[in-house]
Amino acid sequence: MNPKYPNNIPSLIFDDFKFITDASLGRLAKWLRILGYNTVVFPNQAGREMLRKAATEERIVLTRRKDMTERQFSGRLFLITGVDIASQLNDVIGKYSLKVDQQKMFGICLKCNEKLYPVDREEVRDLVPPFVFENCTEYNQCPRCHNIYWAGTHQRNALEFMKKHIPSHLP
Ligand SMILES: [Zn+2]
Repeated sequence: MNPKYPNNIPSLIFDDFKFITDASLGRLAKWLRILGYNTVVFPNQAGREMLRKAATEERIVLTRRKDMTERQFSGRLFLITGVDIASQLNDVIGKYSLKVDQQKMFGICLKCNEKLYPVDREEVRDLVPPFVFENCTEYNQCPRCHNIYWAGTHQRNALEFMKKHIPSHLP
């Protein structure tokens, strides 16, 4: 192997992908956050400004707009052609070999894209419904919106969705 051109770069190097999506791909962005990938939704129309933000923050552009592929951009851009969320998600996971890993999932605020941090059960006593407090021991909180997350119905539903729609990517 020529050391100057390694052909088996460990995949770990590429595992920390960050994304930016069109405003119309909010659902895809939410799913990427569920999987643990830092993803922002660009609020305005996709264009030069979006590419500039992507370049500055080293994000991969996920867009539905074909004309975006014709623009000059040195970063990575992937055209989303699927209409339903399952095919969009499968395409992105396949394209970048994203890790669908329970360790990585549910660690980001779905609303703010902030990394959650663990909080003590006692601290959330008055902040979550009593039945949740009784049944759940581990909680995470968003540093921005202060929303509390726990392993509940939402996570189970998300896992059910994954089993149904992205089975080939599950561990
Ligand atoms: Zn939040």
